[in-house]
Amino acid sequence: MSNYFLSLANVGVQKLRPYQAGKPTDELERELGITDIVKLASNENPLGLSESVKLALQKELTELTRYPDANGFYLKQALATKYSVNNDQITLGNGSNDLLELIARAFVDSSHEVMFAEHAFVVYPLVTQAIGATAVVVKAKDYGHDLSAMAAAITDKTKLIFIANPNNPTGTFLEQAEIKDFLAKVPARVLVVLDEAYFEYADNTRRGNAIAWIKEFPNLIVSRTFSKAYGLAGLRVGYSISHPEIADILNRVRQPFNCNALALKAAETVLQDEQYLAEGVALNNAGMQDLCAFFDEKNLAYIPSMGNFITVNVASFADKKMADKKTGDQVYQALLEEGVIVRPITGYGLPNHLRISIGTEAENQRFKQALTKVLNLQ
Ligand SMILES: *Cc1c(COP(=O)(O)O)cnc(C)c1O
Repeated sequence: MSNYFLSLANVGVQKLRPYQAGKPTDELERELGITDIVKLASNENPLGLSESVKLALQKELTELTRYPDANGFYLKQALATKYSVNNDQITLGNGSNDLLELIARAFVDSSHEVMFAEHAFVVYPLVTQAIGATAVVVKAKDYGHDLSAMAAAITDKTKLIFIANPNNPTGTFLEQAEIKDFLAKVPARVLVVLDEAYFEYADNTRRGNAIAWIKEFPNLIVSRTFSKAYGLAGLRVGYSISHPEIADILNRVRQPFNCNALALKAAETVLQDEQYLAEGVALNNAGMQDLCAFFDEKNLAYIPSMGNFITVNVASFADKKMADKKTGDQVYQALLEEGVIVRPITGYGLPNHLRISIGTEAENQRFKQALTKVLNLQ
């Protein structure tokens, strides 16, 4: 019987490996028998849930016997106002991961190619694989997207291109002019998803407004999420903004109630909570500076990041200090023993790096102490 049902699965699905999530805090608590665990592994908002959302959710609890609004009218309305688009350009998702998959399912079949960069977000190869389409992985430049190489790699079979800006797990950032130059080279029959999960953290003097480019480039889809800067990762809510015809197609393919009632209410509420957003971004900027200064001091090479995380080469000090070189996976394990969960990214082709989500000041401090101990840094 072994592998019998696997042989019945779709060809693409047979080769799928499950998504590796960050290790849950309670799992490590059980394993180590300690409680003061610091999780800096999933780029979550360290501020905790916004107070305005807590209040709104309390009220919403009494409504939970009812189905949610299948069209998410009020959330779409709030997004449409904020981003100066029409409601019919918006598609809501059960997290923005849901949208990435919906877009692939709606437009791509096994005869097509889906393009993304080396070291780019792992969900892109996952959704491509599940459909049985061909993944075209374009070699990274300085850990980020090489848009010239990506434009040159477009073929008659290319149907969809994923670009993460800032990228996860490298934090690399593409300037507006680079992206626009690229879009101008992409044929109209190829859809481009600009995944801006970390948009709110990126430098507001440089990040621009890609949503406004949809008029010029109707094959552009911008996706964003409430999981990161808005602090709603556990509720699962994200959205895409696109040409209305694309949104119409995505809305046909999605499940009727893919955004639950609490998620809709929380997202609509937190979107108005500018203070929460500003506090989170300020905390992130301070923590980013703190960790970069620490890495500089310890001669650890890191990739400059525009997200809420920083990716550091934990083997890079070895040349200078003559210490034993450890891989990212080994340092990850040793940090677990210290009660600090970070993210190894060997699966992204970066075996010497670890990705650390920026935490509160105290959490960052715990991480710095643990890394100092584990790497024997002085
Ligand atoms: C976190 C993340 C997302 C968002 O995931 P959700 O499903 O919205 O929680 C999307 N893209 C990238 C690159 C991410 O890192």
